[in-house]
Amino acid sequence: MSGGLDRHIRDALLTAARTARRHAYAPYSRYAVGAAVLGDNEEVYAGANVENASYGLTICAERSAVAAAVAAGVHRLRAVAVVADGAPPLPCGACRQVLVEFMQPDAVVWVAGADPRSRVKQFRLGDLLPEAFRLDRRMGSRK
Ligand SMILES: [Zn+2]
Repeated sequence: MSGGLDRHIRDALLTAARTARRHAYAPYSRYAVGAAVLGDNEEVYAGANVENASYGLTICAERSAVAAAVAAGVHRLRAVAVVADGAPPLPCGACRQVLVEFMQPDAVVWVAGADPRSRVKQFRLGDLLPEAFRLDRRMGSRK
């Protein structure tokens, strides 16, 4: 990805992530996170973190956005943006693994602060999770 179109996509994903972040359910950590993914159908799917009184059940914003895309029938994602207060929120290890399920290693990951004026950092998913675990899909197939 490069050029003006990318900037357009980046800004659209960041805006969607910031909007979703406002709906984050984070009464325990007060750490509201928003995320948005770009499907191969050019649609944007957003998510926010959803905490739980049983802390371990908390769902991160990235996985929430991926679930929204899957619920819409989209299984191929091209980019993701994640926003939160403070330092740019790098996806946790669990989310990196979930993103790998639906994205190629060269897919772009943008992270930024909740403030639209904050600096945006860009990564490739393959750099955030090299040598990711992948199940050989043929294992479960009789074909
Ligand atoms: Zn996560």
